Formats: sequence, C-alpha cells, structure tokens
Amino acid sequence: MAGRHPHASEVLLFYARLAEFDGDAGALRELLMEHGPQLLQEAAREGREPALNLIQRVLRRRDPKSCTAHQPLAGVYRPEGDGTSFSLVCDACLVEYPASRESCPGCGGADRIAYYSAESMPHIQMRVCESCRRYLHVVNLGLDAEAIPEVDEMTALPLDIWAGEQGYAKLHCNFAGV
Ligand SMILES: [Zn+2]
Ligand SMILES: [Zn+2]
Repeated sequence: MAGRHPHASEVLLFYARLAEFDGDAGALRELLMEHGPQLLQEAAREGREPALNLIQRVLRRRDPKSCTAHQPLAGVYRPEGDGTSFSLVCDACLVEYPASRESCPGCGGADRIAYYSAESMPHIQMRVCESCRRYLHVVNLGLDAEAIPEVDEMTALPLDIWAGEQGYAKLHCNFAGV
C-alpha cells in the first residue's frame, strides 16, 4: 500500500497512531506536531484550533460510553458481502454506528433527500435534506477503500462552500470547524 499511495498511507499511519494513543494531552500534542498532516502540525505547535479540538476528541474517544447521544458528523458506505452497509460517524466520540440510509439524521424525514457531488471527489457525496435544509457528507469506502470518513469529510470543503451559498447548514462541524 505504501508504494501505491505513499501519501494516503502516511495519513493512515497517523490516524492509526491516534486510535492507539494512550498518553496525556501533552504527549498527544507532540504526536500531532511530529506526525500530523501539515495543517495539524502547525496548529498544534501554535496551540490553536483545529488541534485543540482534535486533542479533546481523541482523549474522549477512549471512553465512547461517555457519549450519551451521538451527533452525526459524516456518513459511511462500506462494502459488506454482496451489498453495502451504511453508518454514521459521531462528531463527539468518533464511534461509527449503524443508521438508516433513507432518512435525515437531523429531522428523521425521508421524502426530500437529495445528493450532490463534485467531479474531483467521486467517493464523497453530499446528502441534503430539503425538509430541514441540513446536510452531511457520505464517504463511500467502496470507491476509495483507504478513505477515513472523518478525515476525507474535511476534504469536501468545496461542497461545504457551495452548500453555504445555497443556504444549507451542516448537521455538525468537523475538526476544522466547517
Ligand atoms: Zn458519540
Ligand atoms: Zn432533515
């Protein structure tokens, strides 16, 4: 994998380290400064967002039971057997939990869901609910097996900008505050 996707593999390695991380906030900050994507390295060095928020989330993630009400940050399609499963990633604890793919996680409505995408990011779909005018991004691991939902979701910024112009609001903001 490292040969085919050297960059993706580096990011994956970083997030694998985050998942296994077992130290305190100071050690986590050092990890970000040393191995994080450039945006996070700089933010960690200067002690600002989005690094501070990420540190909080990683420390909280160790105890997902403390998250009493999941807040959907992004959706995930995952190939499973002959089909595809659908789940949501929680903004607060980063746990993935199964969800209905037909209804809006914001208002529960299912009859006015629309999908948008950008040519440059075929593995990401923006799913909009026309009833409550809120949206989230859905990352399709069937199209990019190396995608990390809460990270790839951040790369869909052009869709976020477009959505803002149309008057749609995101269900929950990501690490970068978008
Ligand atoms: Zn949660
Ligand atoms: Zn809705």
